[in-house]
Amino acid sequence: MKYCRFLFENQTHYGAVEDRDGEPWIVDLARAPDEDLAFRLEHHRATSWSFDFEPMPLSAAELLAPVTPSKIVCVGRNYRDHVKEMDSELPAEPLLFFKPVSALLRPGGVVLMPAASSRVDFEGELALVIGRRVRNLKEEDWRSAIRGYTLANDVTARDLQKTDDQWARAKGFDTFCPVGPLVSDELDAASGLTLETRVNNEVRQHGSTLDFIFPIPKLLAYITAAMTLEAGDLVLTGTPSGVGALKAGDCVEVTIPGLGVLANTVEPDAG
Ligand code: MG
Repeated sequence: MKYCRFLFENQTHYGAVEDRDGEPWIVDLARAPDEDLAFRLEHHRATSWSFDFEPMPLSAAELLAPVTPSKIVCVGRNYRDHVKEMDSELPAEPLLFFKPVSALLRPGGVVLMPAASSRVDFEGELALVIGRRVRNLKEEDWRSAIRGYTLANDVTARDLQKTDDQWARAKGFDTFCPVGPLVSDELDAASGLTLETRVNNEVRQHGSTLDFIFPIPKLLAYITAAMTLEAGDLVLTGTPSGVGALKAGDCVEVTIPGLGVLANTVEPDAG
């Protein structure tokens, strides 16, 4: 199924997303034809979720990030062509870092360029949404750990990434983690997903998850050998080549067929 999270009459709702004449619509989970009862009950307990809204086009909704993770685990240098463009070494093991949950940004939200940086880059990425508590996952069990997939933009202060020893600041400014617009379990990443990033309608990144240096089973086994992942946690799987700087007024869009379009604009942080 596909689902999103949105504000309606000042309340947070989860809704199923279904196609109506080629357009995505949000419908009540309770009325969704492919309702996932376990998911619905989990969120009924955890949120002020209610049944009271009429179906609406996804484009008309005030969308929120579709997940509320306890942590955001990111993988750096996971596409060969991106490693090459950054003049980096091919990693022997996955390179992990975090983004703080305070960096989360809703679809349509504004990426704020911090005064401390003079180069803010986009990095379009496929994100995994973890479905259950998992530790020491075996590679062959990877599918059971994932609730679904979504889109993310690993926004990066590239200058600070080079001058700071640790990446906490360069990757961690408020608004540096746009996520959404929806979560879907109807894709198969193992068969290859095509990711595209556009800036002001110009294609800047075009990659396939088949080009991962470390495929998803390896990533999840590696991460969960170090730390417990919780339901709702995000794993950003790395970015293909083509990363570049953003400027005020830009509109950056990340897309994978089946996951919609994650669109955000860019403005200076007025403080
Ligand atoms: Mg990245």
